[in-house]
Amino acid sequence: MTARVSSKVSLVSGAATGIGQSIAARLAKEGSSVVVGDIDESKAQEVVEEINKKGGKARFVHLDVTNEDMWREVIALVETDLGQLDILVNNAGITIVETVDKMLLSDWRAVMAVNVDGVFLGTKCAVPAMKRAGGGSIINISSILGLTGLEKLSAYCASKGAVRLFTKAVALECGRDGSGIRVNSIHPGYIHTAMMEDTCKRDYDGDIPKGLAELGKLHPMGRVGQPDEIAAGVVYLASEESKFVTGSELVIDGGYTAV
Ligand code: NAD
Repeated sequence: MTARVSSKVSLVSGAATGIGQSIAARLAKEGSSVVVGDIDESKAQEVVEEINKKGGKARFVHLDVTNEDMWREVIALVETDLGQLDILVNNAGITIVETVDKMLLSDWRAVMAVNVDGVFLGTKCAVPAMKRAGGGSIINISSILGLTGLEKLSAYCASKGAVRLFTKAVALECGRDGSGIRVNSIHPGYIHTAMMEDTCKRDYDGDIPKGLAELGKLHPMGRVGQPDEIAAGVVYLASEESKFVTGSELVIDGGYTAV
């Protein structure tokens, strides 16, 4: 079988852990050179080592997605060192749990800075590079909570809803300008990562297995998802297999939003 993204260069934000780590590993396994961007250097370096040990091609860049200068520098570095940028996965995301009446404006802004500004800045800086490369694929990790609401997560839901429609607007720009850049969003259900273990600890008295089981029941398939089930969707949207797909929202949620 031929690798599905061979000779492509990918940049994945928030790739030191969880879904981003799995995306980086999967893209590398499918033949892409992967740039692992994160603010957590030590964990990101471990991800890079693991990929390279398995025969993949990966390197680390320090990337705070809220910082426009850093995005410019990282993308310039990718072009200089690796020739071009073909695939950008805007994955970094954070959540703050609070009812709206108690939520501080600073917390609201922190969520928006990473989840919305980060996706905007990454896309803004990647589009010119992808134009120079003759096309590309931008994949924005939204959430089921960009499609439906949940109490105590108003900032997160607002941010992920913004990512969904931002994606479609940019897909139209890039579809009509003939640049060959496709832009799509992915909407995971609950996925077993550190972010989700924090949710379990908070809501189920520290009992992670119980939390996973209870959260699993929210999905008609009866379980939470695994990071590699999201990475599989990313590879599809990154590869030529999806060459007619843009502005779409790929829901990977065990049926959560089908109810
Ligand atoms: P995670 O908390 O396990 O990992 C997030 C990563 O982003 C970490 O490596 C962290 O260091 C990095 N990060 C945080 N702020 C950053 C910044 N300013 N710049 C660069 N990197 C930064 O999260 P996860 O569960 O793997 O989630 C990944 C994405 O998937 C997020 O966008 C999240 O909203 C989304 N998502 C997660 C779930 C879930 O159940 N886990 C469900 C739907 C959507």
